[in-house]
Amino acid sequence: MSSDRCMGYIYLLDAAALFASYQLMLPPNVSAVTTSDVLREVRDAESYRSVELSLSAGKLAIVEVDEVLIDEAVRVVSELGEVGKLSKADLSLAALMVKYSREGCYTVVVTDDYSLQNVAAYLNLYVLGVKRGVISRVVKYLVVCEACGFRGVSEDYCPVCGGRMVRKPIHVRVADVLPK
Ligand SMILES: [Zn+2]
Repeated sequence: MSSDRCMGYIYLLDAAALFASYQLMLPPNVSAVTTSDVLREVRDAESYRSVELSLSAGKLAIVEVDEVLIDEAVRVVSELGEVGKLSKADLSLAALMVKYSREGCYTVVVTDDYSLQNVAAYLNLYVLGVKRGVISRVVKYLVVCEACGFRGVSEDYCPVCGGRMVRKPIHVRVADVLPK
């Protein structure tokens, strides 16, 4: 999929990618973007300096996501049973995934977080790892109570009986692989 709204590939970078200065290793015809919530996770001076330089050199852009996109991301993440696995920063990145997937952009999500990789693959986006590998399958999880079988969305304790909520994979398909 592609559309006039996207110029080439868009790389969505999480904190691990920013720590590795991933944005500086990309070819000039792609755009690297992240969110301000992700940026807040970059605290060490060296990575922060690299991010600041990248921003001023136009090698990285911050794209804000609104509440509507966040809600949409929560819905997608709930469908996959990944809600309890994602931080606020992760959710903001998932919201960016929703945005670019909807706009039909060639989008590559760079993250070592397997839950985020799963969300990306579910949205038919490409996935690259920073230090870890990449998932090869999209897995949909059901979050159920071990004791009474109640189906929930998060891995807290069961609201019905107080039992432990566990994740069970229920649907699996092969993820798309980024063309070389
Ligand atoms: Zn229960």
